[in-house]
Amino acid sequence: MSTFRFHSGRHCLNLIATVGRRRAERVERLTTPADLGRWFTEAGLAASAPAAGARELRQARALRESMYELFTACLLGGEIPSAELAAVNDWAARPAPAHRLEAGPDGRLRRVPGEVTAQALLAEIARDAVDLLGGPLAERVHECELGPCTVLFLDTSRSGRRRWCSMDGCGARAKMAAYRARRTGEGSV
Ligand SMILES: [Zn+2]
Repeated sequence: MSTFRFHSGRHCLNLIATVGRRRAERVERLTTPADLGRWFTEAGLAASAPAAGARELRQARALRESMYELFTACLLGGEIPSAELAAVNDWAARPAPAHRLEAGPDGRLRRVPGEVTAQALLAEIARDAVDLLGGPLAERVHECELGPCTVLFLDTSRSGRRRWCSMDGCGARAKMAAYRARRTGEGSV
């Protein structure tokens, strides 16, 4: 069972991070529909895993890759891919999980969450991407500097110079590698 990464600071980026090492031996962490259900709950988007089948898994992966292409174009200043743009906009326009009214034990009406579907949650994630990519924080989305990682994260540090997706993961590994390189350098003199 895969361990998901939630270091990226936004739901849309955390979904993108379900693929690791994108430019090397790509790691797919959403391998089954059950993985997708578990991802929604671990992300804090649903109290219990919504029903998800092969179709929802395919849709989640497709939305994820469309968002990744848009963030990449934004990072590299490349041309915006129009099919990916249309796909993210299409998901963002789909309905949110609906609330419903229910009579409480005291006889008064109260608002309760309706059934949460995988599609409604994907729509929420697409809207998160629309907000992030279309707003001032877009330029604060960076790629982890530890070579193979490739995780995108929102840099909320005051300096705007955060380098790694997580300090105790990639940050610690990068610092250890730099330390070893210095030691090796000293030893060879
Ligand atoms: Zn990283």
